[in-house]
Amino acid sequence: MNDNVSYFDDDFRKMQFLTKIRTDDPCRPKRAAYRGEATPLGRLTVAKPPHWGGSAVVEPPLWEGSAVAEPNSDYMAKFKVQPKMRSSFSDMFKCYKYVMKIFIFVVGPLQILSVPTFKLVGIRTSLPLPSMWEILSQLVVYFLIEDYTNYWLHRLLHCEWGYEKIHYVHHKYSAPFGFAASHSHWAETVILGIPTLLGPTMVPCHMITLSIWTILRQVEAIQTHSGYEFPWNPTNLIPFYVGAEYHDYHHFVGRQSQSNFASVFTYCDYIYGTDRGYRRHKQALNKVHLGVLQGKMS
Ligand SMILES: [Zn+2]
Ligand SMILES: [Zn+2]
Repeated sequence: MNDNVSYFDDDFRKMQFLTKIRTDDPCRPKRAAYRGEATPLGRLTVAKPPHWGGSAVVEPPLWEGSAVAEPNSDYMAKFKVQPKMRSSFSDMFKCYKYVMKIFIFVVGPLQILSVPTFKLVGIRTSLPLPSMWEILSQLVVYFLIEDYTNYWLHRLLHCEWGYEKIHYVHHKYSAPFGFAASHSHWAETVILGIPTLLGPTMVPCHMITLSIWTILRQVEAIQTHSGYEFPWNPTNLIPFYVGAEYHDYHHFVGRQSQSNFASVFTYCDYIYGTDRGYRRHKQALNKVHLGVLQGKMS
């Protein structure tokens, strides 16, 4: 089975949303309420009252504007992960207002509180500036620490209590867009801030490195929530990188999802078997694609 079928082939996209194939997540918890709504792709959770997107030092909320724009062009539509799902301007604006509230009332005070903590753990603010090698090696360590810790906290948030009380806010959008990266309950913003700050706390760096780290983390979260998978994206060259399509599946399955918890790399999901639903889903789609190709040839 060819596992590298393009998600952007016209016929394939059509079949993705027109054929009735079951893509239920086999890893879903038995006790979880299964209130999804049948859709051509399997089950899609009805949007109800849905990652941490805050950074402790630098918040580039306006960057999300570019990621959130849903351009109505054929060229861009080719790269949309869920081509039939389009968010209205009103939806996006509501999301934007909510995210701004979280930035002002949760992330802002956290940033102020984090200053003495950073001094305590040894974050440097003076000369000499860090070398390129120091910055790069620390960034790699921070990404690995963030990814592993985020995986488990995110997985914990998918227990019945965690989802019903907190994580449902982030899953409001079953077809996410840039702003949805930071659309979280205030408690989730705090909880998932821990993995981001754990690396710099364990391996103290210069303030410049910390700023680069928080910006990269935020940009990465926006990209994985953008709803668009571009084949020419340089992040495609990063081994085991999550990407938009991978995380989109997590949102698509919604409430009952026990798949694709990873924030940056896919290896934790693979090791702990929480990507089985996603792999089955891709296999099912590949079969459909193969059928379309065979139909064309006959
Ligand atoms: Zn998400
Ligand atoms: Zn989730």
